[in-house]
Amino acid sequence: MPTAYLALGSNLADRRHLLAAALAALARDPQNRLTGVSPVYETKAVGLTDQPDFLNCVVRLETDLAPLALLDLCLAIEQQLGRIRRERWGPRTVDLDLLLHEETTLHDDRLTLPHPRMKTRAFVLAPLADLAPDLLLHGEPIRTHLARADQTGVHRTDINLAALA
Ligand code: ADP
Ligand code: MG
Repeated sequence: MPTAYLALGSNLADRRHLLAAALAALARDPQNRLTGVSPVYETKAVGLTDQPDFLNCVVRLETDLAPLALLDLCLAIEQQLGRIRRERWGPRTVDLDLLLHEETTLHDDRLTLPHPRMKTRAFVLAPLADLAPDLLLHGEPIRTHLARADQTGVHRTDINLAALA
């Protein structure tokens, strides 16, 4: 089965519960098998900085869903968990981003793979490096991308999502 990596984030309401619920919803799809969950990080918002801190993690799935079907699942889970879309990069109950799907490179109106902003975002690279430090992105391992990224405001927590699902 193809392997995909997804990034989860939340900075509104009960953040841990929302991450755990998103994780459970991904795992519930019969075409997915959840094979890895990173530690949870607490991170300062980037871009629009005047908003609450995020919790972020990365998950690994073995999946029979094609990339666009996986994106649709992510958007459906965001809806189910009550994401209110107001402004781009603003606060959100839960955000699910598709980072990588095997070696797929895609430039569709709805989906870009690998995720175009992942290579500089420490809040994605740190949890991804916990799961897959040697995974190659644009020819370089994730740990190398992470070493170059600004990790200010990105802290690992000991939150256990499994205990909350
Ligand atoms: P962001 O996640 O960048 O903060 P949004 O979640 O509001 O912003 O953006 C969502 C839109 O981005 C989705 O409707 C989707 O079509 C598009 N998109 C493009 N590439 C990806 C990707 N790799 N993962 C998730 N969404 C993507
Ligand atoms: Mg998103």
